[in-house]
Amino acid sequence: MNEATGTAPGRERASRIAIVGGGASGTLVAANLLRMAEVPLEIELIDESGDFGPGIPYRTPNPEHRLNVPACRMSAWADDPDHYLNWRRSRDPEAAPEEYTARSIYGEYLQELLETAATKAPPFATLGRLTDRVAGISFADGRPVIRFPDRQLEVDQVVIATGPVPGGDPVPVPEALKDRGLYLPSAWDTEAVETAGKDEEVLIIGTGLTMVDVALTLGAAPDGPRIHAISRSGMFPKTHLDRLTRLSTPQIPPEGPVSKRELLGAFAEQLSLASARGDDWRDAIDSMRLVTGDAWRRMSVEDRRWLLENVNRPWEVHRYRMAPSVGAAFHRLIDSGRVEIQQARVGAIEESGSRVRVELVGPKRSESREYDRVISACGACTNIRRDAPEPVRGLIDSGHLRPDDLLLGVEVDRDGAARDARGDRSATISVLGSLRRGVDWESIGVTELKTQSRDIALRLLDQM
Ligand SMILES: Cc1cc2nc3c(=O)[nH]c(=O)nc-3n(C[C@H](O)[C@H](O)[C@H](O)COP(=O)(O)OP(=O)(O)OC[C@H]3O[C@@H](n4cnc5c(N)ncnc54)[C@H](O)[C@@H]3O)c2cc1C
Repeated sequence: MNEATGTAPGRERASRIAIVGGGASGTLVAANLLRMAEVPLEIELIDESGDFGPGIPYRTPNPEHRLNVPACRMSAWADDPDHYLNWRRSRDPEAAPEEYTARSIYGEYLQELLETAATKAPPFATLGRLTDRVAGISFADGRPVIRFPDRQLEVDQVVIATGPVPGGDPVPVPEALKDRGLYLPSAWDTEAVETAGKDEEVLIIGTGLTMVDVALTLGAAPDGPRIHAISRSGMFPKTHLDRLTRLSTPQIPPEGPVSKRELLGAFAEQLSLASARGDDWRDAIDSMRLVTGDAWRRMSVEDRRWLLENVNRPWEVHRYRMAPSVGAAFHRLIDSGRVEIQQARVGAIEESGSRVRVELVGPKRSESREYDRVISACGACTNIRRDAPEPVRGLIDSGHLRPDDLLLGVEVDRDGAARDARGDRSATISVLGSLRRGVDWESIGVTELKTQSRDIALRLLDQM
């Protein structure tokens, strides 16, 4: 290394990498780059929230908002599976492998991991944290230009880590309802959600884990609102067992295409194996995760679409489960009548004086009901062309990114390199996280993010 400049031998100009999104995904790419850097590197981690590490799920201050994966499976380093558990034990020697930690604590872990990686990095690898909104990404002489509302930044590489794309409003909503805070378009707006604590009747659209979070927040006060939650299926998440699930690798063809029949067959086999051993369906479901990502990439579009349309919802409620304490608290709310779950979709939303009138279309009949407030927890987007926010939308429009066949996100190779509109590999854009759902399926949890982030860092360092 050159002592005077702090640069590695033979290199003068540092490569500049912009990471758009400072949640778990972006943080892990930055930490991997800092840890493995052998060439001069300027990393700019960009997040509009000003938080670097927690992202949306691990920002919540509510201690009842728990991880939905046990501590022993939440390490952020692909090569150190016990890293998170050991970190927890350094703070609380009693922390158990099957603990479902408060999510805010996991946010602190990610923050500390980034700090440590930045402190221990060689002097020629630096980390900048930019609090700003990326309004778009363009290209000048083949190099990406990150555009902010008031400035721009030229870089060599860009990593898109902007997190899950919300699905948007279920039906057109009058602007006045949003302006008056009677319709909340995002259940993640914790402060806005808390204002509903004084209401009498609240409707949550969506019955997934986000709805459970909102119900626990609003259900905490004894005189809080009655909560109605609806979805097309009416299904809501199952609860974890108190013990860790036992994993065994399902059998799918070792190479070549995989059909939906083969994947469902492997699942049926796992279920009978679990039953023969006296295990639980949860053991079978969690085991499938070992192969679903690989199988998904090898499946035809038709089979993937079929699974999405026919199996996805029951799969999700069994696969993404509530921590035991969360499940117990949520079922208490149901038993006491504070929470009611109904199978229905929204037909229309309109103003009705100081309340919101909603047309609910059920499997057998429709009805019109009024609520003090409506909160959308509708889940991830199902049409990236319609719902993509910037900078993804601009990159799709300019042909630098290509929507995947199912329109859940964008086309990305296994090593994280994006594909452009012609199907060519991008030399400058990498993508990780939820935007890869269409091609990787399992692309949401830390389990996947830790390998995706490591692979992107390795490839970028190799390219330099
Ligand atoms: C309620 C909930 C609980 C979960 N629990 C678990 C769990 O227990 N275990 C697990 O493994 N996974 C869990 N997950 C999955 C979770 O999505 C991932 O673990 C991970 O947090 C996703 O991180 P991310 O960085 O991809 O997205 P995000 O956390 O959404 O971060 C994206 C960041 O990008 C920023 N951003 C977006 N657009 C721009 C822009 N244009 N300019 C600047 N900044 C921008 C946002 O401000 C945000 O901070 C949970 C998810 C949810 C919703």
